Amino acid sequence: MSTDIDQAGLAARITGFVDAVVTPIAPTMARGAGPSPKRIVEAAGEAGLAGILTPPAFGGAGASHSDFIEFIEAVARADASCAVILDVHLSVGTEPLLVFGNNDQKSRYLRRLAAGEWLAAFALTEAAGGSDAVALRTRAVRDGDSYLLDGAKAFITGAGDADLYIVMARTGDGPHGVSAFLVEAAWPGVTTGMPLSKMGLHGSWTGELVLDGVRVPAANRLGDEGMGFTVAMSALDSGRVGISAQAVGIAQGALDAAVEASRRRGEGGSATDMPALADMEVRTSAARQLTRYAAALVDAGERVTLDAAIAKLYSTDTCVAVAQSAVDLCAPESGADDHSAAVRFRDAKACQIYEGTNQIQRVVIARHLLRD
Ligand SMILES: Cc1cc2nc3c(=O)[nH]c(=O)nc-3n(C[C@H](O)[C@H](O)[C@H](O)COP(=O)(O)OP(=O)(O)OC[C@H]3O[C@@H](n4cnc5c(N)ncnc54)[C@H](O)[C@@H]3O)c2cc1C
Repeated sequence: MSTDIDQAGLAARITGFVDAVVTPIAPTMARGAGPSPKRIVEAAGEAGLAGILTPPAFGGAGASHSDFIEFIEAVARADASCAVILDVHLSVGTEPLLVFGNNDQKSRYLRRLAAGEWLAAFALTEAAGGSDAVALRTRAVRDGDSYLLDGAKAFITGAGDADLYIVMARTGDGPHGVSAFLVEAAWPGVTTGMPLSKMGLHGSWTGELVLDGVRVPAANRLGDEGMGFTVAMSALDSGRVGISAQAVGIAQGALDAAVEASRRRGEGGSATDMPALADMEVRTSAARQLTRYAAALVDAGERVTLDAAIAKLYSTDTCVAVAQSAVDLCAPESGADDHSAAVRFRDAKACQIYEGTNQIQRVVIARHLLRD
C-alpha cells in the first residue's frame, strides 16, 4: 500500500462506491440492461476512483497497484461487468499514458480520464491477431505531421462508448514495426459496431473498432515509433494483475452465494457441503495472495511478467472452478439465468481469455523455466 495517501479514506470510498453504486445495479448489469460503461466510470469519478493510479497532479488518487487490486476485487465481488469496465479504463486504458505519455499527452487526457468524464479503451486484438499480436494488420502511414490509420480491431472492451482508444498499429515490419496511438472516438473515420452478445459480462460492452483513414496527429503517438509492442506488453503485464483481481472478486462472490445456500440448508451450514466450501475458500485465498504479490512487485518497480502470468492463470482458472462449484452447491435454484452463482459462472469464463489466454500464460511461464 502507498504510504502517502489516506488508506482508511480510500478503503471507505471503495466500500461506499460498491455499496451505493455497484451492488444496486448488479442485476441490471447481469441482464445487459445498463447503465452504460461510461456511466459506471462517471460514477467512479464522482467517488474519486476513476483515476486511482493517476497522480494527484493530474486529478487522480495517486494510489498504488496494491490499492487498485483491492478496488477491482471489491467491485468484482458485487458485479464482474463493472469490474472489467473499471479495470480496462484504469489499467490498460490509462496506464500506458502514465508510463509512456509525455507531459503534453498527460495534460490533454489524464484529467478527463481521472474525473470519469472520458472512458478509455485498449485496442490491440484483430480478427487475424489476438494471441499472435505481431500479426496485427492495422496500418499507420506517416503523412506530414500526422499518421493515417486504417484497419479493424476486434473484441474491444468499451467499443462504442469509449472516448479514447489506445490503438496499436503497424508503422513497419515485425515486432519493432508496431506503434501505439492515442485515438479520440470523435475523430472522422472512427466507427464502432454493435456490442457483441456474449455468454457473460453482459453489462460490459465488447465490440469492433474500425479505423478508416483516421488522421492522428504525430503528437498522439505514445512513445517512439516502433515502441508499440513494448507499450502493449507493459500494459498487459500489469493489466493481468487487474484481471487476476477481477477473478478473485468473482470467485469470492460465487463463494458468498454458496455459503448462503449452504447456511439455508442446515443449521450453521450443511455438513455435506463443507469439503467443497473449504476447497473453494483455499483456492480463492491462494489466488488473492498471488494477486497481492504480483501487485506488490509492480509497486516495487520489479519486472512482473512471470508473476502476473502466474497470478492471472491461477486466479482465472480458480474463478471458473469456484463459480462452477457454486452452481453445484446452489442447485437447483442456480439453474435460473439470474441466480448469482449462474451469473458468476458465465462471467468467469472470459477472464481465462482476455489479456492473454491462459494457454498463452502457460507459454510465458514455461518459457521462463526453459530459458538459460
Ligand atoms: C470479453 C472480451 C473482452 C476483450 N477485450 C479486449 C480489449 O479490450 N482489447 C483487446 O485488444 N482485446 C480484447 N479481447 C481480445 C482477447 O484479448 C483475445 O480474444 C485473446 O487475446 C485471444 O486472441 P484471439 O481471440 O485472436 O484467439 P487466438 O489467438 O486465435 O487463439 C485461439 C485459441 O488458440 C490458443 N492459442 C493461440 N496461440 C497459442 C499458442 N502459441 N500456444 C497455445 N495455445 C494457443 C488460444 O489460447 C485460444 O484458445 C477481449 C476478448 C474478450 C472475450
